[in-house]
Amino acid sequence: MRFETRAIHGGLDHDNHARAIVPPVYHSTVYELSEAGKQDDELLYSRLDNPNRRQWEALAASLEGGAGAAAFASGIAAATAVLQALDPGDHVIFPDDLYSGHRMMITGLMNRWNLHSSFVDATNANTIREAIRPETRLIWMETPSNPMLRITDIAAVCELARSRGLISCVDNTWPSPVNQRPLELGADLVMHSSTKYFGGHSDTLGGLVIAREENELMERIRFIQRLGGAVPSPQDCWMLARSTRTLAYRMRGHNAHGAELAAFLARHPKVGAVHYPGLSGHPGHETARRQMHGFGGMISFEVKGDASQTLKVVAGAALIRRATSLGGVESSWEHRLSTEGEGSKTPGNLIRFSVGLEHPDDLKEDLERALSVL
Ligand SMILES: *Cc1c(COP(=O)(O)O)cnc(C)c1O
Repeated sequence: MRFETRAIHGGLDHDNHARAIVPPVYHSTVYELSEAGKQDDELLYSRLDNPNRRQWEALAASLEGGAGAAAFASGIAAATAVLQALDPGDHVIFPDDLYSGHRMMITGLMNRWNLHSSFVDATNANTIREAIRPETRLIWMETPSNPMLRITDIAAVCELARSRGLISCVDNTWPSPVNQRPLELGADLVMHSSTKYFGGHSDTLGGLVIAREENELMERIRFIQRLGGAVPSPQDCWMLARSTRTLAYRMRGHNAHGAELAAFLARHPKVGAVHYPGLSGHPGHETARRQMHGFGGMISFEVKGDASQTLKVVAGAALIRRATSLGGVESSWEHRLSTEGEGSKTPGNLIRFSVGLEHPDDLKEDLERALSVL
């Protein structure tokens, strides 16, 4: 079956004894056991597993083309589980343009537990190769990166990882499996913040790890999910599965509006650089064309002004909401430097824009209004 069809029907055959077209939310935290005591595939306790999580994990795994998925309470919990599946003393290579909350989790939490990390320019596989040490275990990718939308060649880096016996993991939050499927390009693991495009309505937190193979590594990740306990509620799993039914169609809108507004901004006299991999002048455009099926709804752009003028632009819109996060049906944007705070290398005139599903002409008028403060 094709992606759109799997998105609508996937996962529903798990624990759906009543054959409901829309499955119920199982609020129960406990399940009655067999007289003979707990049997292998029996549900026991909702932290360990529950019907809504099984449905959501089966759906997500199917859309990424993975053997299985583990759902978490947030994207950062999913990323933490991948790193906790390694051993103290192991070394991980990360892109230097990594989601800032993830970077803080690594330096503020994982490094204290003796996980070593390097942050390198991931637009170049040679830079990654040079960063490999004897104790390196994993190469992390995030492409397009956040917030600069730099592109990593997923197939080339996965090939490098495999040749050196390393695990490859891609944070696929921004493109979603509609626009990019890293497991097909050779990655071992995909991580998601399902808070973003899977959820799509800015109302549910969630995270995922999806594995190409059910192996020992994935077993460890599931162990951390169940015993670490950063699990989504049955209600959250239900919400995320419900929203995912429309993912393919929402992404088509995000892709179309993203491309249209990136071109509009690139022509605008008050805008300098526009970072969008769909633009032919973007340094990663050729690689993005090879590995992406659409370029998404995220645009970062630099206005011709300083940080305080940029804050005025962000405040000058009537429709586009001033908020962090992304992937909602509503457009939002932020002055990224002030969100990232101290230590950020993001330019002070950069606006990170999550293009929503409003009519693009309304968005263009709003951009015109906001940029007129310059
Ligand atoms: C938001 C985000 C995360 C973190 O996910 P949460 O659901 O907020 O914990 C990780 N990676 C990327 C690329 C993100 O955009």
